[in-house]
This record gives sequence, C-alpha cells and structure tokens, in this order.
Amino acid sequence: MRQETVSTSTLALEARDISVVRGGVKVLEIPSLQVLPNEVLVVIGPNGSGKTTLLLTLAGLLRPASGTLLYQGQPATTQAELLRLHRRMAVVFQEALLLNSTVWDNVTLGLRLRGVAKEEIKTRADKWLERFGIASLAGRQARTLSGGEAKRTSLARAFVLQPDILFLDEPFNGLDSHSRQAIIDDFEGVLRETRTTTVLVTHDSNEALALAHRVIVLMDGRIRQLGSREEVFSNPVDEQVAAFVGVENIIDGVVTSNQGGIINVSIGPSSPGSIIEAVADSAAGEKVSVCIRPEEITLTVSRASSSARNSFSGTITRLVSFGAFSRVEIDCGFPLVVLVTKRSAEEMGLEKGKQIFASFKATGVHVIKR
Ligand code: ADP
Repeated sequence: MRQETVSTSTLALEARDISVVRGGVKVLEIPSLQVLPNEVLVVIGPNGSGKTTLLLTLAGLLRPASGTLLYQGQPATTQAELLRLHRRMAVVFQEALLLNSTVWDNVTLGLRLRGVAKEEIKTRADKWLERFGIASLAGRQARTLSGGEAKRTSLARAFVLQPDILFLDEPFNGLDSHSRQAIIDDFEGVLRETRTTTVLVTHDSNEALALAHRVIVLMDGRIRQLGSREEVFSNPVDEQVAAFVGVENIIDGVVTSNQGGIINVSIGPSSPGSIIEAVADSAAGEKVSVCIRPEEITLTVSRASSSARNSFSGTITRLVSFGAFSRVEIDCGFPLVVLVTKRSAEEMGLEKGKQIFASFKATGVHVIKR
C-alpha cells in the first residue's frame, strides 16, 4: 500500500525482472522490488535462499543475468551509472573486513578516499566513534579488537560516509547474545535518528522483529512474502513462512508506568486502553510494541487463577487447525493469536464465537521501542 503512493523517481532503489545465475544455476528471480526512502527493509530466509545474492545484486556488486536496477529512478547498469550508486552507499559485511591498521584509520579511510577535508573527517569520525561506543579505541590496532568492537568499527566506518543507502549482510553474526543485543540496540537507535535507507540481510527473525519496517521472506530465490513487520509476523502467508518466522502478536501501546522494571503498557483504541504488564526498561510515555508469541498464551474457559498477571477475556473470531495444532484468533478489544494443541482445543470445546480467557506472564512479553 505504502509502495503505490511513492513515484518511481522518489524510490531509493528499484529492481525489475531481476534474475541471477551463480555456478550455472538460477539462484534468484525477483520480478519487482522497491526500496522506499528512509525505510529499514530486512531480508530474512533460510540458509541458501539467496539473501546475500539479493543484497549484492541490489548494491550493484553482482551483475544479474537479466533485469534492471534503478537507483533514485535512474538506471544503474553501466559502470558510470553504478559508480554513482557506489559513491552514495555503504556496505557492512558479516566479517568486519578491517584493514591491518588502527580503528581510526579504518573508520576514516572511506572519507580520505573521497577527498573529504581533514576537519570534516575528524568531526564525522569523532561523532560515529562516540556514537558506537568505541571512541576510546581509536588508536587501537584493529586486529586486537573483540568481535563486538570490530563490528562497531565497521558500523562506524559505514555511517561516517553518511550513505544514502546502507546494505548489511548478517552484520551481528558470531557475537554472544549480550554483545549482540547491545549492538543491535545501538544500531536501532542510530537508524531511528538518521533515518538511513537500509537493506539488511539476516537469517534471524528476531533481528527482523527488532529492526524492520518491512520484511522480505526469501525462499528458494523468490520472494515468498513482503510486508510490514506486523503483516509478516502476525499473518505469515503460509505454513513454511510461519514455521520460519514464528507467528507473533505485535500490539502497539504506550508505557504508563515503570516500577522496578515492571512496566504497564496501555494498548487498544480506547484511552486508557487495556493494560499489559511486561518486564522492560522503558520509561512512562514511551511508545512501544509489545510482542507475545502465541505459544506463550494460555487459554482457559473460566478466568484462570494462575500467577499470570496478564489475563483478558475475549471472543474467538477464527479457529484453524493444522497438524497437531490449532491457531485461535481472539478479539480481546485487541487481536490475539494463540497456538494450542488440537487436543486441548477439542477438550475446551473451542469454536468461533465462544467466550474465552487468555493469559500470559509479564516475562513472556517482549517489548520493542517504536
Ligand atoms: P543465503 O545468503 O540466503 O544463504 P546465498 O545468496 O549465499 O544464500 O546463496 C544462494 C544460492 O546461490 C545457494 O544455492 C548458493 O549455493 C549459491 N551460491 C552462492 N554463491 C555462489 C557462488 N559464488 N558460486 C556458485 N553458487 C553460489
């Protein structure tokens, strides 16, 4: 929908009828793809589905067997045209690919190559080293950096270029979960501030959940689903996509209080709407999305007396069974999708129109800043 309101000339990037052959095999076929200005487009999919191939093709680093790439409405096919794109983009690969030199040299290299004035280089490098928490490492040899520090260096190296479009291929791989989360949080904050048009590839659907405006699910070299983060995670087009992304309830709300790390989030159209309790470090007034996996939600026919702090009554609007599971959609004043075993659905006599209680623990809620 958003796509149709943007004219071709204002698109950041557009691919038309692209096919890519590698090792004699067609590994990518994309009839049409548009990257919108200022969006974070995340490409997810299993290994070998063609994510890296798509990223390299969109960045003009891999020549497609057929098709057209348009950068800001202009063709990017000839060397001269591609140079225009390459001058305005930055790429971050899975491996930090740092020069055997200092962090400072690495971060400023692109600017020096582009002939940017010394003072400007210093201003920008200082800013991005600071922003990624590595200012104290400026004089360090890159080879002595930890994995997380190296990744922060490669992100700073990309952002100093102030790119029109940023491409990243699995940039947070290989980190322990703590460093990974910290760097993702910082990166997310930077994207929110700079509104840099971004295409990011990952096999990790949690990264897509944390960062994406729109998500592409790639399977077997084709786009299986393209939609907003909410569409893809709440409404996967088929079971394979659902199995890959994991279905997720994503509900927008506003934090009304934080007491010792337990937050209340007001959701729903009415004000104050229903309150969902969650564990997070958000402050009152912050806009957030609360995410709840369907398997975290328990259904009961009468109000549960369990320890779950979040308990809502609702009406079943849809019930679909597949395999051993039933997917239950409930209207609690806000929509909830719940996954239960087919057997327990039968035991509870679940059917469309039935009144039901849904409950989940505050610790089962994942909070994302909006
Ligand atoms: P993903 O990034 O999703 O893991 P890739 O884009 O790396 O997928 O790979 C897509 C397909 O292209 C795979 O079948 C892979 O084996 C093949 N492929 C990737 N790189 C090459 C290459 N350099 N030569 C031949 N085939 C390749």
